Amino acid sequence: MSENSFDVVVIGGGPGGYVAAIRAAQLGLKVACIEKRGALGGTCLNVGCIPSKALLSASHAYEAAAHHYGAFGIRTGKVEIDVAAMQGHKDKVVADNTKGIEFLFKKNKVTYVVGAGSIAAPGQVKVTGKDGEQTLAAKAIIIATGSDVTPLPGVEIDEEVIVSSTGALALPKVPKSLVVIGGGVIGLELGTVWRRLGAEVTVVEFLDKILPFNDGEVSKAMQKILAKQGFAFKLGTKVTGAKRNGKHAVLTVEPAAGGASEEIKADVVLVAIGRKPYTEGLGLENVGIVPDKRGFIEVDGHYRTSVPGIYAIGDVVGGAMLAHKAEEEGVALAEMLAGQHGHVNYDAIPAVVYTWPEVASVGKTEEQLKAEGVAYKAGKFPFTANGRARSMNETEGFVKVLADAATDRVLGAHIVGPNAGDLLAELVTAIEFGAASEDVARTCHAHPGLGEAVKEACLAVLGRAVHI
Ligand SMILES: Cc1cc2nc3c(=O)[nH]c(=O)nc-3n(C[C@H](O)[C@H](O)[C@H](O)COP(=O)(O)OP(=O)(O)OC[C@H]3O[C@@H](n4cnc5c(N)ncnc54)[C@H](O)[C@@H]3O)c2cc1C
Repeated sequence: MSENSFDVVVIGGGPGGYVAAIRAAQLGLKVACIEKRGALGGTCLNVGCIPSKALLSASHAYEAAAHHYGAFGIRTGKVEIDVAAMQGHKDKVVADNTKGIEFLFKKNKVTYVVGAGSIAAPGQVKVTGKDGEQTLAAKAIIIATGSDVTPLPGVEIDEEVIVSSTGALALPKVPKSLVVIGGGVIGLELGTVWRRLGAEVTVVEFLDKILPFNDGEVSKAMQKILAKQGFAFKLGTKVTGAKRNGKHAVLTVEPAAGGASEEIKADVVLVAIGRKPYTEGLGLENVGIVPDKRGFIEVDGHYRTSVPGIYAIGDVVGGAMLAHKAEEEGVALAEMLAGQHGHVNYDAIPAVVYTWPEVASVGKTEEQLKAEGVAYKAGKFPFTANGRARSMNETEGFVKVLADAATDRVLGAHIVGPNAGDLLAELVTAIEFGAASEDVARTCHAHPGLGEAVKEACLAVLGRAVHI
């Protein structure tokens, strides 16, 4: 095989692409990964999961020190925020993580090619980098080009006053007022960061609820909890425009059902209405791949596009637009390309909102089970009845488990609570293993632990919770 010839060429170095590249290399394939951003890790490591969690952790610590330590008998004096230092923490975490992927590439002998990849023909990828152009030959091409911010008609993003998630992660100071357009995960997480630091946050959402894809009970509970934290909500409201006016923005909104419009002034407006697949400059037209109406690349169960030898994974193929879903697809596809039997269980993909309390869910919601006509039993256990949660002063929320009425198999789990994202892992494993709620309920859980709430919710499915 010549120097520029590979078994697998991956276009895009995000969680889908870099994990596919490493797994394929582990399995003995010769792999190159092309990334144009100048840093590996994609949206997730550079402008997504990791920087948002760095700011969420920092702002959580600030809020705890400023407002909650007193209840534990800790006197702190005046607690102050240094936004530049907080952003420095975030930048360091991002840099350490992206460099970590470069190290993993070296360790696994993945060739990292810096530049923009374009498919010239089946089996050929042209890379345009700062040192010119080169062509790589590939037995298999993996498209893992991810997604970008969905724009809102009538709203021009300048990343200063009217920002996307990328701008909201890099604000140099705390805005007095922040309007978040979109009551989904990204809007609520970044709204939480700046609310904790002192901004007055208003969420404008077209639908009549926040977190519309979550279990209905969870959406309602979170709206109440976030309102108590200081969030203002304008639900069932449509944004018809937003204009920058000097250092501020003016939004025009009207009821989604129609009616009189009104104006809202804000220091910063965050547009967080979702993400769209990114295929710009990829050369899909050269090989005849036509994305679907929403721009996603269509693939079959083996991640094959309509062109033999060209595959796609991650955000660019749609489904849950989450880093771990992209990673699982990367692993499965690499294994298939190496002649193994990769597989992703789409019923066991967790989803977490890193507000506080956190929101974590997997599998079916009650609304979905009702719509599908599945007979189910629900078990619920509140953190108010969990000793560990009480000792932490973290009693908001609950664990809710949904199990098949006939077989007791766990079909869905929804947690609002402290460390919900980590607690959920046990129930994801239960779904993956086809476990019954009784299997979890009969498993010994360490005391005192938040995990006991998971056990109790499973006992509640069986009608025999002990501590409530
Ligand atoms: C603010 C925010 C917070 C988020 N938080 C979470 C979270 O907590 N948990 C979670 O699971 N998900 C989160 N996500 C979503 C997550 O970032 C994505 O689901 C994930 O990054 C998708 O991975 P991917 O590999 O498909 O694409 P991406 O991560 O988008 O990577 C694609 C890469 O391809 C590169 N590329 C594109 N075209 C080319 C080309 N022609 N040539 C070379 N390179 C190219 C891009 O530069 C990019 O680096 C968050 C997203 C945002 C915006």
